[in-house]
Amino acid sequence: MYDIDKIRADFPILSRTVYNRPLVYLDNGATTQKPRCVVEAMTEEYYSVNANVHRGVHFLSQKATELHEASRETVRSFINAQSINEIVFTRGTTESINLLASCFGDAFMNEGDEVIVSVMEHHSNIVPWQLLAERKGIKLRVIPMTDSGVLMLDEYEKLFNDRTRIVSVAHVSNVLGTVNPIKEMVRIAHAHGVPVLVDGAQSTPHFAVDMQLLDCDFFAFSAHKIYGPTGVGVLYGKEKWLDKLPPYQGGGEMIKNVSFEKTTFNELPYKFEAGTPDYIGTHALAVALDYVSKIGMDSIYSHERELTSYAMQQMQQIDGIRIFGTAADKDAVISFLVGNIHHLDMGTLLDRLGIAVRTGHHCAEPLMSRLGIEGTVRASFALYNTKEEVDILVAGIKRVASMF
Ligand code: PMP
Repeated sequence: MYDIDKIRADFPILSRTVYNRPLVYLDNGATTQKPRCVVEAMTEEYYSVNANVHRGVHFLSQKATELHEASRETVRSFINAQSINEIVFTRGTTESINLLASCFGDAFMNEGDEVIVSVMEHHSNIVPWQLLAERKGIKLRVIPMTDSGVLMLDEYEKLFNDRTRIVSVAHVSNVLGTVNPIKEMVRIAHAHGVPVLVDGAQSTPHFAVDMQLLDCDFFAFSAHKIYGPTGVGVLYGKEKWLDKLPPYQGGGEMIKNVSFEKTTFNELPYKFEAGTPDYIGTHALAVALDYVSKIGMDSIYSHERELTSYAMQQMQQIDGIRIFGTAADKDAVISFLVGNIHHLDMGTLLDRLGIAVRTGHHCAEPLMSRLGIEGTVRASFALYNTKEEVDILVAGIKRVASMF
């Protein structure tokens, strides 16, 4: 039984008003709201446990370290990785991808080598590879998509050649909501002896992900999109790969011994975690993962899918609407435009009705070019959204449209 009222009561912000109207928060793709337990875990740790982690002999440092390392185990279990050595804490998906592009590029890529990305990537899975292209002369190859927003797997397969070193693709598009067939894409890449990095920023909040099932080599996600705090993320990597990569940043914690003659690096995963980690944030992430696990990722998935198909049905009936992304396997994201109304005008007027949506290119300008548009309005759902909120959105869109 999905008790939506009980769930909503866990999120204090959902009961506030904006412009004297109840808040309808549909910008979850950008960031999700936080349940009370997550915020309280952070306050509680600052008030009663706070001390820098690792190497501390004193009580508080040991307690903080225990919480931080227990969080690594919570993440491992949540994504079903084989070992905690495979869980690297970062600042977010963006840093995870930059880390991987930089370290993998240094270790395994040379001038003329290629990375395969897709046309629907977020800038954070394009620009790190372009920076590497500038440094090392590597090339980006791009998987095209159909008009409904589905990656063309036959074209994908044709992109492989003896210079292909890595594939880096989104699990779920933050604009189209398309769920990409990662398992199949990994199978194809592995058949060519090529590893795969999956950008899981938009998948982890919505359905269960399983590293051993997907068999991807690397996987990145952000805590703040799955009801956790800002500034924390995860890079999962198979141990056999992480072992071979050089460190990302230098500093405390990532070393074994330092001398001016020779420095040796720490074991996994600490080799990639220079400096004081956001140990309050990692603990809060674990609390968030426990929170969603308690509700059940499968229940969240069913609830959000039902909401998305209801919203699609309702929205498709709006005069002059164009919806971008109509894949059969579509997640909780709906991007649209109505008539000639500029996305910014639609977003601004919806806001006055208390409805928070995102507008613009959604950090996916190449995808906007592919669609032949400059931007969209995007409504994205979370575990706490309701059909009533969808109705308010639909009525709001109609009202705004009638003003033009
Ligand atoms: N990839 C995708 C698909 C995203 O939607 C986002 C966030 N909009 C990111 C990467 C970047 O995540 P973050 O800003 O948390 O690093």
